[in-house]
Amino acid sequence: MTRTPRTSGSRNLRVSGPTPLPEPVLEALGEQMVSHRGEEFRRRLRRVVARLAQVFGTREGTILPFTASGTGGLEAAVLNTLAPGDSVLAVRCGHFGERFAEVAECYGAEVLPLDVAWGRAADPDDLRRALRTHGPVAAVLLTHCETSTGVLNPLAELAAVVRAESPALVLVDGVSSVGATAIDMDRLGLDVVITASQKALMAPPGLVVLAASRRALEVSERHCQRRYYFDFPKMAEAVAEGTTTYTPAMGVIYGLDAALEQMLTEGLDQVFARHRELAAACRDGLRELGFEGFADPAHASPSVTSVLLPPELSASDIRSRLEREHEVFIAQGRAHLKERVLRVGHMGNVARHHIDHLVAAVAAVAASERALS
Ligand SMILES: *Cc1c(COP(=O)(O)O)cnc(C)c1O
Repeated sequence: MTRTPRTSGSRNLRVSGPTPLPEPVLEALGEQMVSHRGEEFRRRLRRVVARLAQVFGTREGTILPFTASGTGGLEAAVLNTLAPGDSVLAVRCGHFGERFAEVAECYGAEVLPLDVAWGRAADPDDLRRALRTHGPVAAVLLTHCETSTGVLNPLAELAAVVRAESPALVLVDGVSSVGATAIDMDRLGLDVVITASQKALMAPPGLVVLAASRRALEVSERHCQRRYYFDFPKMAEAVAEGTTTYTPAMGVIYGLDAALEQMLTEGLDQVFARHRELAAACRDGLRELGFEGFADPAHASPSVTSVLLPPELSASDIRSRLEREHEVFIAQGRAHLKERVLRVGHMGNVARHHIDHLVAAVAAVAASERALS
C-alpha cells in the first residue's frame, strides 16, 4: 500500500482545496467511532456547532451540517429557499458564480444573471440597478470569494444594497472565504452562507456547513420544493438535540473539532490577519517575477491568488514542473483562462515559509522555461 506521508516534508499543497491538515486534525481523524446518537458525540457536535457559529459571525443563525461537498450545500440552499418559478438574481463573476446559477436553474428557478467580467468584483451600483430593472426577486445569489478568479467580492456593500432595495433572501457561497476572512452574517443580514470542510476550515472534504437566518428557516418551513435529505427544518431540529438527521461524516467532524480549536486558540482576528498578510506576500512575490495579479487588486482574495502569465509561458507546463521538480501543487485557471492563469491557494493551515517556498519554486521554473523559449 502506498501512502502519502503524514508529515508533509517538502510537499507544498497550494491548491484551493483540499488544504493541508494540521497535526491535531490528523490525530483526531484516527479516533475510534462512537454512536452518533450517544452523549459523547452529542457533546462534540454541540461544541463544533457553537464554534462554527463564531466563525460565521452569527448568534441568530442556525448551523446546518450536511454530509456532502460544497456543491451539495449550494443545492441545499436552493432546495430550501426557492420554489420552481421563483425569480433569482445571480451575480456571476466566474466559474463558481455560474455553478450556483446552474443549480438554481436546475430546480426550476428563473435565473436573471448579473454578469461581471472575470477578474473583477461585483459592483454594488450595478447590483442596485439590476434589482430596480428586474423587479421583485425571491433571492440574490452571491459568491463571496470567487475561487476561479481570486476575487473577494465586497459582501457587506452588496448585501446592504439588497437589504435596502428588496426583501429578497441573500444566499452566499462562502466556501473559500469562511474561516479565511470575517463574515459577520448577522450584521450583514445574510440569509444562507455556505462553506465546506476542506477549504479554510482545515479539515478533510466531506462536510458542508450552512448557516441559515431565521427568515431562511421560515421560508424553508413554508414552501414545498421537493426535497428529502437536504431538509433545513429537519436538520435544525436534529442539531438542536446535538445530533444530525442522518449518519454524519463523523471522522470529518472529529477533524473539524480539532481544526476549530486551533483556529480559536490562534484567535479569529489573527487568523484573518495572517490570511491577508500571506496573500499580500504571495501577490508581491509573484509580481516580482513578472506575473501580474489577475484579480482586481482592490478586491484580491485573502485565500486564493491568481496571476496572469506572460505570453511566453504556459500554465500547464509550469504547473506540472512545479509538481515534478519542487513538490509544489497549484491550480490553473478555469475555462478560457486555463493556459493563461495560475492560481495559488493560501487558506487554512498556511505559514510564511509555504509562500516563500512556492515563490522560489515558481522563480526557478519560470527562469528555466524562459531560457527554453
Ligand atoms: C471549492 C468551492 C466550491 C465547492 O466545491 P466542492 O468540490 O463541491 O466542494 C463551491 N464554491 C466555491 C467558491 C469553492 O471554492
